[in-house]
Amino acid sequence: MLGCTAFISACTTNAATGEKQFTAFMPASSEAQVGATEHAKVEAQFGKFMTGPIATYVNKVGQRVAANTERKDVQYKFYVLDTPMVNAFALPGGYTYFSRGLLTLANSEAELAGVIGHEIGHITARHAASRMSQGLVAGLGAAVIGAAAGGSAGKVANLGSNLYISSYSRGQESQSDELGIRYISRAGYDPMGVTKFLSSLDAQSKMENGGKTNFSYFSTHPLTASRVQEARVEAAKYPANNNESRAAYLNQINGLVYGDSPDQGFARGNKFYHPAMDFTFSVPNGSKITNGTSSVVAQHPNGTVIVFDAGKGKSSDPLTFLKNEWLKGENAGGVESITVNGKRAATTAFEGNVQGKAVTVRLVAVEWSPGTYYRFQMAIPKAVPAAFMSELKTTTYSLRPMTGSEKASIEAKKIRVLVAPAGSTVDSMAAKMNVDGDKTEHFLVLNGMARNQKVIAGQPYKIVM
Ligand SMILES: [Zn+2]
Repeated sequence: MLGCTAFISACTTNAATGEKQFTAFMPASSEAQVGATEHAKVEAQFGKFMTGPIATYVNKVGQRVAANTERKDVQYKFYVLDTPMVNAFALPGGYTYFSRGLLTLANSEAELAGVIGHEIGHITARHAASRMSQGLVAGLGAAVIGAAAGGSAGKVANLGSNLYISSYSRGQESQSDELGIRYISRAGYDPMGVTKFLSSLDAQSKMENGGKTNFSYFSTHPLTASRVQEARVEAAKYPANNNESRAAYLNQINGLVYGDSPDQGFARGNKFYHPAMDFTFSVPNGSKITNGTSSVVAQHPNGTVIVFDAGKGKSSDPLTFLKNEWLKGENAGGVESITVNGKRAATTAFEGNVQGKAVTVRLVAVEWSPGTYYRFQMAIPKAVPAAFMSELKTTTYSLRPMTGSEKASIEAKKIRVLVAPAGSTVDSMAAKMNVDGDKTEHFLVLNGMARNQKVIAGQPYKIVM
Protein backbone atom coordinates (compact mmCIF):
# COMPACT_ATOMS: atom_id res chain seq x y z
CA MET A 1 0.00 0.00 0.00
CA LEU A 2 1.39 3.38 -0.95
CA GLY A 3 1.78 5.84 1.87
CA CYS A 4 0.20 9.25 1.71
CA THR A 5 3.03 11.49 2.85
CA ALA A 6 5.02 11.63 -0.38
CA PHE A 7 2.11 12.62 -2.56
CA ILE A 8 0.08 15.03 -0.47
CA SER A 9 -1.81 16.41 -3.44
CA ALA A 10 -3.08 12.95 -4.39
CA CYS A 11 -4.47 12.21 -0.93
CA THR A 12 -8.07 12.53 0.14
CA THR A 13 -9.94 11.71 3.33
CA ASN A 14 -12.49 8.99 2.79
CA ALA A 15 -15.95 9.93 4.07
CA ALA A 16 -16.92 6.32 4.85
CA THR A 17 -13.75 5.16 6.58
CA GLY A 18 -12.24 8.43 7.78
CA GLU A 19 -8.90 7.23 6.38
CA LYS A 20 -6.50 9.21 4.25
CA GLN A 21 -6.18 7.53 0.85
CA PHE A 22 -3.73 7.70 -1.99
CA THR A 23 -5.98 7.99 -5.02
CA ALA A 24 -3.82 9.36 -7.81
CA PHE A 25 -4.37 6.26 -9.95
CA MET A 26 -8.10 6.70 -9.82
CA PRO A 27 -9.45 10.09 -8.80
CA ALA A 28 -13.16 10.08 -7.91
CA SER A 29 -13.85 11.88 -11.18
CA SER A 30 -12.61 8.97 -13.25
CA GLU A 31 -14.39 6.22 -11.29
CA ALA A 32 -17.56 6.42 -13.37
CA GLN A 33 -15.60 6.07 -16.58
CA VAL A 34 -13.50 3.16 -15.31
CA GLY A 35 -16.69 1.49 -14.05
CA ALA A 36 -18.46 1.90 -17.38
CA THR A 37 -15.54 0.33 -19.26
CA GLU A 38 -15.35 -2.65 -16.89
CA HIS A 39 -19.13 -2.97 -16.83
CA ALA A 40 -19.09 -3.61 -20.58
CA LYS A 41 -16.67 -6.49 -19.94
CA VAL A 42 -18.96 -7.94 -17.28
CA GLU A 43 -21.87 -7.85 -19.71
CA ALA A 44 -19.76 -9.48 -22.44
CA GLN A 45 -18.74 -12.21 -20.01
CA PHE A 46 -22.08 -13.00 -18.41
CA GLY A 47 -24.44 -12.18 -21.25
CA LYS A 48 -27.69 -10.35 -20.64
CA PHE A 49 -28.47 -9.26 -17.10
CA MET A 50 -31.68 -10.59 -15.59
CA THR A 51 -34.74 -8.38 -15.98
CA GLY A 52 -38.29 -8.50 -14.61
CA PRO A 53 -39.55 -8.58 -11.01
CA ILE A 54 -36.40 -10.05 -9.47
CA ALA A 55 -34.20 -7.31 -10.99
CA THR A 56 -36.68 -4.63 -9.91
CA TYR A 57 -36.70 -6.02 -6.39
CA VAL A 58 -32.89 -6.19 -6.05
CA ASN A 59 -32.68 -2.61 -7.28
CA LYS A 60 -35.32 -1.50 -4.76
CA VAL A 61 -33.46 -3.07 -1.82
CA GLY A 62 -30.17 -1.74 -3.23
CA GLN A 63 -31.39 1.85 -3.50
CA ARG A 64 -32.75 1.66 0.07
CA VAL A 65 -29.31 0.62 1.35
CA ALA A 66 -27.46 3.07 -0.93
CA ALA A 67 -29.50 5.99 0.41
CA ASN A 68 -27.73 5.46 3.74
CA THR A 69 -24.11 5.74 2.60
CA GLU A 70 -21.64 8.61 2.93
CA ARG A 71 -20.98 8.88 -0.79
CA LYS A 72 -23.89 10.61 -2.45
CA ASP A 73 -21.75 11.51 -5.48
CA VAL A 74 -21.97 7.92 -6.70
CA GLN A 75 -24.93 6.69 -8.72
CA TYR A 76 -25.46 3.13 -7.49
CA LYS A 77 -26.55 0.50 -10.02
CA PHE A 78 -27.62 -3.06 -9.23
CA TYR A 79 -27.43 -5.93 -11.71
CA VAL A 80 -28.50 -9.57 -11.41
CA LEU A 81 -26.26 -12.07 -13.22
CA ASP A 82 -28.04 -15.13 -14.63
CA THR A 83 -25.55 -17.65 -13.29
CA PRO A 84 -25.82 -20.47 -10.73
CA MET A 85 -22.46 -19.48 -9.27
CA VAL A 86 -22.74 -17.78 -5.88
CA ASN A 87 -20.99 -14.45 -6.14
CA ALA A 88 -21.25 -10.70 -5.80
CA PHE A 89 -18.84 -7.99 -6.78
CA ALA A 90 -18.59 -4.25 -7.27
CA LEU A 91 -16.84 -1.91 -9.67
CA PRO A 92 -15.89 1.74 -9.22
CA GLY A 93 -18.60 4.16 -10.25
CA GLY A 94 -21.37 2.38 -8.31
CA TYR A 95 -21.73 -0.80 -10.40
CA THR A 96 -22.70 -3.81 -8.28
CA TYR A 97 -23.52 -7.39 -9.32
CA PHE A 98 -25.36 -10.20 -7.58
CA SER A 99 -25.69 -13.68 -9.03
CA ARG A 100 -28.91 -15.67 -9.28
CA GLY A 101 -27.11 -18.38 -7.26
CA LEU A 102 -26.57 -15.88 -4.47
CA LEU A 103 -30.24 -14.85 -4.50
CA THR A 104 -31.40 -18.47 -4.16
CA LEU A 105 -29.05 -18.94 -1.20
CA ALA A 106 -30.14 -15.88 0.81
CA ASN A 107 -33.06 -16.32 3.22
CA SER A 108 -34.28 -12.81 3.95
CA GLU A 109 -34.31 -9.26 2.64
CA ALA A 110 -31.98 -8.34 5.52
CA GLU A 111 -29.43 -10.88 4.21
CA LEU A 112 -29.72 -9.53 0.66
CA ALA A 113 -29.38 -6.00 2.07
CA GLY A 114 -26.31 -7.23 3.96
CA VAL A 115 -24.50 -8.51 0.87
CA ILE A 116 -25.51 -5.34 -1.00
CA GLY A 117 -24.21 -3.21 1.89
CA HIS A 118 -20.92 -5.10 1.80
CA GLU A 119 -20.45 -4.47 -1.94
CA ILE A 120 -21.38 -0.81 -1.52
CA GLY A 121 -18.80 -0.71 1.28
CA HIS A 122 -16.09 -1.66 -1.21
CA ILE A 123 -17.21 1.30 -3.34
CA THR A 124 -17.51 3.88 -0.56
CA ALA A 125 -14.17 2.80 0.94
CA ARG A 126 -12.70 2.96 -2.58
CA HIS A 127 -11.00 -0.41 -2.31
CA ALA A 128 -10.92 -0.83 -6.07
CA ALA A 129 -8.64 2.15 -6.55
CA SER A 130 -5.76 0.17 -5.12
CA ARG A 131 -6.56 -2.93 -7.15
CA MET A 132 -7.17 -1.50 -10.59
CA SER A 133 -3.53 -1.58 -11.59
CA GLN A 134 -3.58 -5.36 -11.22
CA GLY A 135 -6.08 -5.58 -14.07
CA LEU A 136 -9.45 -7.19 -13.72
CA VAL A 137 -9.61 -9.66 -16.52
CA ALA A 138 -8.67 -13.32 -16.49
CA GLY A 139 -11.10 -16.22 -16.39
CA LEU A 140 -12.74 -19.36 -15.15
CA GLY A 141 -11.41 -21.54 -17.95
CA ALA A 142 -8.17 -19.67 -17.69
CA ALA A 143 -8.16 -20.16 -13.91
CA VAL A 144 -8.22 -23.90 -14.45
CA ILE A 145 -5.94 -24.27 -17.43
CA GLY A 146 -4.29 -21.09 -16.16
CA ALA A 147 -3.37 -23.42 -13.34
CA ALA A 148 -1.66 -25.34 -16.12
CA ALA A 149 0.56 -22.38 -16.93
CA GLY A 150 4.15 -23.42 -17.28
CA GLY A 151 5.69 -25.65 -19.88
CA SER A 152 3.99 -25.73 -23.22
CA ALA A 153 0.56 -25.81 -21.55
CA GLY A 154 1.10 -22.15 -20.73
CA LYS A 155 0.81 -21.44 -24.43
CA VAL A 156 -2.86 -22.43 -24.44
CA ALA A 157 -3.77 -20.75 -21.15
CA ASN A 158 -5.28 -17.74 -22.82
CA LEU A 159 -8.73 -19.06 -23.63
CA GLY A 160 -10.43 -15.77 -24.23
CA SER A 161 -11.54 -12.61 -22.54
CA ASN A 162 -13.20 -14.04 -19.47
CA LEU A 163 -13.74 -11.76 -16.54
CA TYR A 164 -12.11 -12.27 -13.21
CA ILE A 165 -12.40 -9.88 -10.33
CA SER A 166 -9.31 -10.17 -8.20
CA SER A 167 -9.53 -10.85 -4.50
CA TYR A 168 -9.80 -8.15 -1.84
CA SER A 169 -7.46 -8.14 1.15
CA ARG A 170 -8.66 -9.42 4.51
CA GLY A 171 -8.51 -5.91 5.93
CA GLN A 172 -10.72 -4.64 3.11
CA GLU A 173 -13.18 -7.47 3.75
CA SER A 174 -13.53 -6.61 7.45
CA GLN A 175 -13.95 -2.95 6.59
CA SER A 176 -16.68 -3.72 4.04
CA ASP A 177 -18.48 -5.96 6.53
CA GLU A 178 -18.44 -3.09 9.04
CA LEU A 179 -19.71 -0.60 6.46
CA GLY A 180 -22.39 -3.04 5.23
CA ILE A 181 -23.65 -3.49 8.79
CA ARG A 182 -23.71 0.29 9.28
CA TYR A 183 -25.68 0.86 6.07
CA ILE A 184 -28.31 -1.84 6.60
CA SER A 185 -28.85 -0.79 10.20
CA ARG A 186 -29.46 2.77 9.02
CA ALA A 187 -31.78 1.40 6.31
CA GLY A 188 -33.91 -0.25 9.00
CA TYR A 189 -32.82 -3.89 8.63
CA ASP A 190 -31.63 -6.43 11.21
CA PRO A 191 -27.87 -5.65 11.40
CA MET A 192 -27.25 -9.41 11.78
CA GLY A 193 -28.18 -9.77 8.07
CA VAL A 194 -24.50 -9.61 7.08
CA THR A 195 -23.53 -12.27 9.63
CA LYS A 196 -26.34 -14.65 8.71
CA PHE A 197 -25.57 -14.50 5.03
CA LEU A 198 -21.85 -15.07 5.65
CA SER A 199 -22.79 -18.19 7.63
CA SER A 200 -24.93 -19.45 4.74
CA LEU A 201 -22.12 -18.79 2.27
CA ASP A 202 -19.69 -20.64 4.48
CA ALA A 203 -21.99 -23.67 4.77
CA GLN A 204 -22.74 -23.66 1.04
CA SER A 205 -19.08 -23.38 0.13
CA LYS A 206 -18.18 -26.32 2.40
CA MET A 207 -20.99 -28.42 0.90
CA GLU A 208 -20.03 -27.62 -2.70
CA ASN A 209 -16.44 -28.82 -2.73
CA GLY A 210 -14.50 -27.84 0.28
CA GLY A 211 -14.81 -24.19 -0.65
CA LYS A 212 -12.52 -24.60 -3.64
CA THR A 213 -14.79 -23.34 -6.40
CA ASN A 214 -13.09 -21.32 -9.09
CA PHE A 215 -15.33 -18.30 -9.17
CA SER A 216 -17.18 -18.24 -5.89
CA TYR A 217 -17.93 -15.53 -3.36
CA PHE A 218 -14.97 -16.36 -1.15
CA SER A 219 -12.55 -16.32 -4.07
CA THR A 220 -13.28 -12.60 -4.44
CA HIS A 221 -14.14 -11.85 -0.78
CA PRO A 222 -11.85 -14.03 1.37
CA LEU A 223 -13.37 -15.70 4.43
CA THR A 224 -11.09 -15.68 7.45
CA ALA A 225 -11.72 -17.98 10.39
CA SER A 226 -12.90 -15.03 12.48
CA ARG A 227 -14.88 -13.10 9.85
CA VAL A 228 -18.35 -14.37 10.76
CA GLN A 229 -17.72 -13.86 14.48
CA GLU A 230 -16.32 -10.36 13.91
CA ALA A 231 -19.40 -9.41 11.91
CA ARG A 232 -21.59 -10.71 14.75
CA VAL A 233 -19.70 -8.59 17.33
CA GLU A 234 -19.89 -5.54 15.07
CA ALA A 235 -23.64 -5.95 14.47
CA ALA A 236 -24.24 -6.19 18.23
CA LYS A 237 -23.00 -2.59 18.57
CA TYR A 238 -26.07 -1.40 16.65
CA PRO A 239 -29.63 -1.11 17.99
CA ALA A 240 -31.35 -4.51 17.83
CA ASN A 241 -33.86 -4.68 14.99
CA ASN A 242 -35.72 -7.85 14.06
CA ASN A 243 -36.78 -6.62 10.61
CA GLU A 244 -35.52 -9.49 8.48
CA SER A 245 -38.42 -9.49 5.96
CA ARG A 246 -38.01 -13.25 5.48
CA ALA A 247 -41.45 -14.10 4.11
CA ALA A 248 -41.39 -11.12 1.74
CA TYR A 249 -38.00 -12.21 0.44
CA LEU A 250 -38.97 -15.85 -0.06
CA ASN A 251 -42.04 -14.68 -1.94
CA GLN A 252 -39.77 -12.76 -4.35
CA ILE A 253 -37.51 -15.74 -5.13
CA ASN A 254 -40.31 -18.32 -5.34
CA GLY A 255 -40.02 -19.85 -8.84
CA LEU A 256 -36.50 -18.56 -9.53
CA VAL A 257 -34.35 -20.98 -11.56
CA TYR A 258 -32.01 -22.94 -9.31
CA GLY A 259 -28.70 -24.08 -10.77
CA ASP A 260 -28.18 -24.13 -14.52
CA SER A 261 -30.70 -22.74 -17.00
CA PRO A 262 -31.50 -24.02 -20.54
CA ASP A 263 -29.60 -21.10 -22.09
CA GLN A 264 -26.49 -22.13 -20.20
CA GLY A 265 -26.77 -25.90 -20.27
CA PHE A 266 -27.28 -28.47 -17.53
CA ALA A 267 -24.99 -30.87 -15.71
CA ARG A 268 -26.83 -34.08 -14.81
CA GLY A 269 -24.69 -36.71 -13.13
CA ASN A 270 -21.64 -37.25 -15.38
CA LYS A 271 -23.39 -35.81 -18.46
CA PHE A 272 -23.62 -32.26 -19.72
CA TYR A 273 -26.53 -31.08 -21.91
CA HIS A 274 -26.82 -27.76 -23.70
CA PRO A 275 -30.28 -27.49 -25.34
CA ALA A 276 -29.69 -23.99 -26.74
CA MET A 277 -26.40 -24.92 -28.42
CA ASP A 278 -27.61 -28.45 -29.19
CA PHE A 279 -24.85 -30.66 -27.81
CA THR A 280 -24.17 -33.18 -25.09
CA PHE A 281 -21.13 -35.04 -23.82
CA SER A 282 -20.19 -37.20 -20.86
CA VAL A 283 -17.18 -37.06 -18.54
CA PRO A 284 -15.65 -39.88 -16.45
CA ASN A 285 -17.80 -41.02 -13.52
CA GLY A 286 -17.02 -39.20 -10.29
CA SER A 287 -16.14 -35.91 -12.03
CA LYS A 288 -17.54 -32.68 -10.63
CA ILE A 289 -18.95 -30.54 -13.45
CA THR A 290 -18.89 -26.74 -13.12
CA ASN A 291 -20.82 -24.85 -15.76
CA GLY A 292 -19.02 -21.55 -16.26
CA THR A 293 -20.19 -18.63 -18.33
CA SER A 294 -18.03 -19.50 -21.31
CA SER A 295 -16.71 -22.96 -20.52
CA VAL A 296 -17.64 -26.20 -18.80
CA VAL A 297 -15.09 -27.58 -16.36
CA ALA A 298 -15.02 -31.16 -15.08
CA GLN A 299 -12.69 -32.04 -12.22
CA HIS A 300 -12.03 -35.67 -11.30
CA PRO A 301 -10.82 -36.69 -7.81
CA ASN A 302 -7.65 -38.13 -9.43
CA GLY A 303 -6.66 -34.59 -10.44
CA THR A 304 -7.73 -34.70 -14.08
CA VAL A 305 -9.27 -31.44 -15.32
CA ILE A 306 -11.34 -31.21 -18.50
CA VAL A 307 -12.26 -27.81 -19.92
CA PHE A 308 -14.82 -27.65 -22.74
CA ASP A 309 -15.64 -24.52 -24.70
CA ALA A 310 -16.69 -23.28 -28.12
CA GLY A 311 -14.77 -20.94 -30.37
CA LYS A 312 -14.74 -19.40 -33.80
CA GLY A 313 -11.99 -20.17 -36.29
CA LYS A 314 -10.99 -18.99 -39.76
CA SER A 315 -9.34 -22.27 -40.74
CA SER A 316 -11.07 -24.49 -43.27
CA ASP A 317 -10.32 -27.71 -41.38
CA PRO A 318 -9.84 -28.79 -37.73
CA LEU A 319 -6.20 -29.78 -38.17
CA THR A 320 -5.22 -26.31 -39.40
CA PHE A 321 -7.40 -24.73 -36.73
CA LEU A 322 -5.69 -26.69 -33.97
CA LYS A 323 -2.15 -26.07 -35.25
CA ASN A 324 -2.35 -22.46 -36.41
CA GLU A 325 -5.14 -20.81 -34.45
CA TRP A 326 -5.41 -22.68 -31.16
CA LEU A 327 -1.73 -23.46 -30.66
CA LYS A 328 -0.69 -20.39 -32.64
CA GLY A 329 1.94 -22.35 -34.51
CA GLU A 330 3.63 -23.71 -31.39
CA ASN A 331 5.06 -27.14 -32.10
CA ALA A 332 3.08 -29.50 -29.89
CA GLY A 333 4.14 -32.78 -31.43
CA GLY A 334 1.95 -34.92 -33.62
CA VAL A 335 -1.43 -33.50 -34.61
CA GLU A 336 -3.86 -36.11 -35.81
CA SER A 337 -7.15 -35.91 -37.76
CA ILE A 338 -10.06 -37.88 -36.28
CA THR A 339 -13.84 -38.09 -36.74
CA VAL A 340 -16.20 -37.55 -33.79
CA ASN A 341 -19.75 -38.78 -34.48
CA GLY A 342 -19.46 -37.87 -38.14
CA LYS A 343 -17.83 -34.48 -37.54
CA ARG A 344 -14.28 -33.60 -38.60
CA ALA A 345 -11.91 -33.20 -35.67
CA ALA A 346 -8.23 -33.00 -34.73
CA THR A 347 -6.27 -33.88 -31.61
CA THR A 348 -2.82 -33.60 -30.12
CA ALA A 349 -1.10 -34.23 -26.79
CA PHE A 350 1.97 -32.81 -25.09
CA GLU A 351 3.60 -32.56 -21.68
CA GLY A 352 2.78 -29.68 -19.33
CA ASN A 353 2.46 -28.62 -15.71
CA VAL A 354 -0.48 -27.98 -13.37
CA GLN A 355 0.52 -26.29 -10.13
CA GLY A 356 3.96 -27.83 -10.31
CA LYS A 357 2.71 -31.34 -11.13
CA ALA A 358 3.60 -32.93 -14.44
CA VAL A 359 0.57 -33.63 -16.62
CA THR A 360 -0.24 -34.70 -20.13
CA VAL A 361 -2.31 -32.08 -21.93
CA ARG A 362 -4.70 -33.47 -24.53
CA LEU A 363 -6.44 -31.08 -26.93
CA VAL A 364 -9.38 -31.98 -29.15
CA ALA A 365 -11.02 -29.60 -31.68
CA VAL A 366 -14.29 -30.69 -33.28
CA GLU A 367 -15.68 -28.72 -36.25
CA TRP A 368 -19.28 -28.34 -35.12
CA SER A 369 -20.33 -26.20 -38.08
CA PRO A 370 -18.20 -24.28 -40.60
CA GLY A 371 -16.05 -21.84 -38.60
CA THR A 372 -17.28 -23.06 -35.18
CA TYR A 373 -15.07 -25.38 -33.16
CA TYR A 374 -15.99 -27.21 -29.96
CA ARG A 375 -12.90 -27.88 -27.89
CA PHE A 376 -11.78 -30.19 -25.12
CA GLN A 377 -8.67 -29.47 -23.09
CA MET A 378 -7.66 -32.21 -20.71
CA ALA A 379 -4.91 -31.95 -18.10
CA ILE A 380 -4.15 -35.52 -17.05
CA PRO A 381 -1.85 -36.40 -14.12
CA LYS A 382 0.89 -38.93 -14.89
CA ALA A 383 -0.30 -41.63 -12.50
CA VAL A 384 -3.83 -42.24 -13.83
CA PRO A 385 -4.54 -45.86 -14.79
CA ALA A 386 -5.03 -47.03 -18.38
CA ALA A 387 -8.73 -47.68 -17.74
CA PHE A 388 -9.19 -44.00 -16.92
CA MET A 389 -7.41 -42.99 -20.13
CA SER A 390 -9.99 -44.98 -22.05
CA GLU A 391 -12.77 -43.13 -20.16
CA LEU A 392 -11.26 -39.87 -21.38
CA LYS A 393 -11.32 -41.21 -24.92
CA THR A 394 -15.02 -41.95 -24.37
CA THR A 395 -15.50 -38.29 -23.36
CA THR A 396 -14.09 -37.14 -26.70
CA TYR A 397 -16.27 -39.50 -28.71
CA SER A 398 -19.41 -38.79 -26.62
CA LEU A 399 -19.79 -35.28 -28.05
CA ARG A 400 -22.91 -35.21 -30.24
CA PRO A 401 -26.14 -33.23 -30.87
CA MET A 402 -28.98 -33.80 -28.38
CA THR A 403 -31.88 -36.04 -29.33
CA GLY A 404 -35.44 -34.72 -29.41
CA SER A 405 -36.43 -36.73 -26.34
CA GLU A 406 -33.40 -35.43 -24.43
CA LYS A 407 -34.42 -31.87 -25.24
CA ALA A 408 -38.00 -32.56 -24.13
CA SER A 409 -37.03 -34.17 -20.85
CA ILE A 410 -34.31 -31.79 -19.61
CA GLU A 411 -35.78 -28.98 -17.54
CA ALA A 412 -34.47 -26.32 -15.21
CA LYS A 413 -34.83 -26.85 -11.46
CA LYS A 414 -36.61 -24.10 -9.57
CA ILE A 415 -36.89 -22.77 -6.04
CA ARG A 416 -40.33 -23.45 -4.57
CA VAL A 417 -41.34 -21.96 -1.25
CA LEU A 418 -43.47 -24.39 0.76
CA VAL A 419 -45.18 -23.77 4.08
CA ALA A 420 -44.26 -26.69 6.34
CA PRO A 421 -47.36 -28.78 7.13
CA ALA A 422 -48.04 -29.89 10.71
CA GLY A 423 -45.75 -32.73 11.79
CA SER A 424 -43.00 -31.77 9.30
CA THR A 425 -39.40 -32.61 10.08
CA VAL A 426 -36.15 -31.61 8.38
CA ASP A 427 -36.07 -35.06 6.77
CA SER A 428 -39.67 -34.94 5.55
CA MET A 429 -39.10 -31.52 3.96
CA ALA A 430 -35.68 -32.53 2.59
CA ALA A 431 -37.24 -35.59 0.93
CA LYS A 432 -39.04 -33.22 -1.46
CA MET A 433 -35.73 -31.83 -2.76
CA ASN A 434 -34.76 -32.70 -6.34
CA VAL A 435 -30.97 -32.52 -5.89
CA ASP A 436 -27.96 -34.81 -6.25
CA GLY A 437 -26.17 -35.83 -3.06
CA ASP A 438 -27.29 -35.48 0.56
CA LYS A 439 -30.82 -34.00 0.48
CA THR A 440 -30.92 -33.21 4.19
CA GLU A 441 -27.63 -31.31 4.12
CA HIS A 442 -28.76 -29.48 0.98
CA PHE A 443 -32.07 -28.50 2.61
CA LEU A 444 -30.34 -27.21 5.75
CA VAL A 445 -27.77 -25.18 3.79
CA LEU A 446 -30.38 -23.76 1.42
CA ASN A 447 -32.50 -22.62 4.37
CA GLY A 448 -29.64 -21.30 6.49
CA MET A 449 -30.36 -23.84 9.24
CA ALA A 450 -28.00 -25.44 11.75
CA ARG A 451 -27.79 -29.24 11.88
CA ASN A 452 -29.82 -29.49 15.11
CA GLN A 453 -32.44 -26.92 14.07
CA LYS A 454 -36.06 -28.07 13.66
CA VAL A 455 -38.62 -27.25 11.01
CA ILE A 456 -41.46 -25.10 12.38
CA ALA A 457 -44.93 -25.97 11.07
CA GLY A 458 -46.61 -23.03 9.33
CA GLN A 459 -43.29 -21.41 8.36
CA PRO A 460 -42.14 -21.09 4.71
CA TYR A 461 -39.08 -23.05 3.50
CA LYS A 462 -37.17 -23.25 0.24
CA ILE A 463 -37.30 -26.53 -1.70
CA VAL A 464 -35.55 -27.31 -5.01
CA MET A 465 -38.03 -28.85 -7.47
ZN1 LIG B 1 -15.84 -8.13 -0.05
